[in-house]
Amino acid sequence: MHDSPEVRDVLILGSGCSGLTAAIYAARANLKPLVLEGHEPGGQLSITTLVENFPGWPEGVQGPELVDNMKKQAVRFGAELRMAHLTSVDLLRFPFEVQVGKDIIHTRSIIIASGASARWLGLPSEQALIGFGVSSCATCDGFFTAGKEIAVIGGGDSAMEEALFLTRFASKVTLINRSEAFRASRIMLERAIEHPQIHFLHNTVVEEVLGVEERDVRGLMLHNRKTGERSHLPVQFMFLGIGHEPNASMFKGQIDLDDDGYVKTEHNVFTTRQGVQLHGVYACGDVQDRRYRQAITAAGTGCMAALEVEKYLEELGK
Ligand code: NDP
Repeated sequence: MHDSPEVRDVLILGSGCSGLTAAIYAARANLKPLVLEGHEPGGQLSITTLVENFPGWPEGVQGPELVDNMKKQAVRFGAELRMAHLTSVDLLRFPFEVQVGKDIIHTRSIIIASGASARWLGLPSEQALIGFGVSSCATCDGFFTAGKEIAVIGGGDSAMEEALFLTRFASKVTLINRSEAFRASRIMLERAIEHPQIHFLHNTVVEEVLGVEERDVRGLMLHNRKTGERSHLPVQFMFLGIGHEPNASMFKGQIDLDDDGYVKTEHNVFTTRQGVQLHGVYACGDVQDRRYRQAITAAGTGCMAALEVEKYLEELGK
């Protein structure tokens, strides 16, 4: 299959749900994909606790277990996983060239599955409690907030959407916005304002998440930036809705990105350069999806990307 050991047929960048699904499909097509696991091996699933909405797991499955199973499945069919992330990439030459530390890898196709990272406040107490009452995914963890008082951080559409969704479970949602004004669209904001379970705090930042020793969120210490007042908010969950950063900056100038840095795709997985479809470079998962951001949709586009690679390599005569 390979004309030299250095030229790969398929290189997959990222080992979250989309990258590993692409690896399973590419491996089963006997393309021996190489997966660079990236900065966060296993992607966002690796920092989630119970996943209850991935089809096929009626009792739910722990995120790290789900992703570990995907890895085993990919390896079983011949995928090679490497604990590394790329230093630079050159998509202007062919075969494409990827530098990983001192190593150069040439490849006939690339699947970009580098994901997006949720923005966090960056407080040590917040980081210690991720998965223990601190979450960046309302769809994943909302169910666990049944009957509880919770907080959502942010003032954009993501925060409004999360707050509205979480009212299905939580008894009270306090939305904490650091500014006076909201970034959210009027319609989303109005919906949230009109909702009787949602309460608002303006000009307010979280200084500390309480409960580190108990490994369970016990409340938030807040600071009102306008009045200087400090207060305690007794909540059992804190959801971040302050946006995501797509991990795509290294492709800038080589493929089209949108204004927020997400990879632009046509038909879900085809990348473009100056609006023209690029052959051999595909993107899947959260690096190209600002809308759904689910494990199952990431897996879906990972599958599509691998099937397109297969077709493309066939056309290339490989
Ligand atoms: P936005 O950039 O629109 O908003 C981010 C919010 O988080 C702002 O209120 C910002 O506050 C706040 N924020 C950022 N960093 C911090 C921090 N460190 N501490 C506290 N607060 C912080 O991001 P979104 O994810 O909400 O939206 C991104 C895009 O996706 C938008 O175009 C949006 O319309 C779209 N979207 C649409 C949805 C829909 O239509 N259903 C749903 C979700 C997103 P500040 O204003 O002070 O900077």
